[in-house]
Amino acid sequence: MNAPLMPVEQALQQLLEQAEAALIIETQQVSLDQADGRVLAEDVIASLDLPPWPNSAMDGYALRLSDWVAEALPVSQRIVAGSAPEPLERGTCARIFTGAPMPQGADTVEMQENITLTDDGRVVFTQPLKVGQNVRPQGQETRKGDRVLAQGTRLGPVELGLAASLGLSHLTVCRRARVAVLSTGDELVEPGQALGFGQIYNSNRRVLISWLQRLGCEVVDAGILPDNLEQTRAALAALDQVDLILSTGGVSVGEADFLGVALREEGELVLWKLAIKPGKPLTFGRFRGVPVMGLPGNPASTLVTFGLLARPYLLRRMGATQVQPLGFDLPAGFAWNKAGKRREYLRAQVQNGRVVLYPNQSSGVLLSAAWADGFAEVPENTTLAEGDAVRFIPLSELLV
Ligand code: AMP
Ligand code: MG
Repeated sequence: MNAPLMPVEQALQQLLEQAEAALIIETQQVSLDQADGRVLAEDVIASLDLPPWPNSAMDGYALRLSDWVAEALPVSQRIVAGSAPEPLERGTCARIFTGAPMPQGADTVEMQENITLTDDGRVVFTQPLKVGQNVRPQGQETRKGDRVLAQGTRLGPVELGLAASLGLSHLTVCRRARVAVLSTGDELVEPGQALGFGQIYNSNRRVLISWLQRLGCEVVDAGILPDNLEQTRAALAALDQVDLILSTGGVSVGEADFLGVALREEGELVLWKLAIKPGKPLTFGRFRGVPVMGLPGNPASTLVTFGLLARPYLLRRMGATQVQPLGFDLPAGFAWNKAGKRREYLRAQVQNGRVVLYPNQSSGVLLSAAWADGFAEVPENTTLAEGDAVRFIPLSELLV
């Protein structure tokens, strides 16, 4: 009797619980230069108001609105960005530029396009004025003491820019997860070597190493592991300093499932049959206490299971709160006539607002994913007619 397949979200939930229980707690201070992709280990609190003083949002003229009684105002000072203005003299206005501090006493800015100058250089405001217009008030963006970034935020260009705008040169981040990448299979050879009959080049190693680096992990390249129990034991034993051993291949309960045997002997093994296609078999366990995840070896299966399960697991280990990709519903540009028992992650493009599938969805075909912009997610037990809504998960959401 076949056990029921485990739904993807259930596997994910269990993995995230495992990750919570094994959070990496060491932190480090890194410069903003080094912080891209890392996870904030503490809240960022504004140490100043942003902007620190009221300033002009336009190139124009600053005035105290109550001074303007339909008469031209003389210009009493010129204020450029970076300068410190004098208080505004009563009955005058100030030439002012974008980002320059408002002079004390001024409350309004008119843009230069809406004024005319008299022969003697006084300013005539030609349009109705409203107090506060074109002025960016102090603290408009954030106030000193506000939490601007929460612990668990993954840092990218925008977050780093925000930290810079607050004057921070360093941030406290979680240390990188150390992840060992093991490629299992007697048939594998590395690019650059001659390919014998029956052999294939190891592509999963390359996919995982560069992906892990993007995730902010430190990669230990453990190379190719032959399908052999002794060598599997030895390889696992040598990787006792990592946070996760990530292997591909040899998980399909075949005769060559040496990873499973080694885990059963010297750790613990959970073998999941997931309701996911591609990528049904997934191993999770421990070898002498070190977490091990075994992904299926077919390249598209490796891609899908890493993206949907290993990626959130690792991000959560590093303390990230937001670990799930965004997806959105789009009309299907295809019909799906045969309801499946497994949730399908079809390699797809968006063309003219519709989700279009790569013709060859075999789990062995990595080219499908190179062609694709994302995955079309067809739930289990579901058929679709053309035009029905289907969830689309952009690869760009996953590959970061
Ligand atoms: P396995 O899970 O070991 O049964 O492998 C499933 C399929 O994926 C087989 O066709 C393997 O040759 C292929 N495969 C396994 N590992 C890799 C790898 N690192 N790179 C490319 N293909 C692989
Ligand atoms: Mg294999």
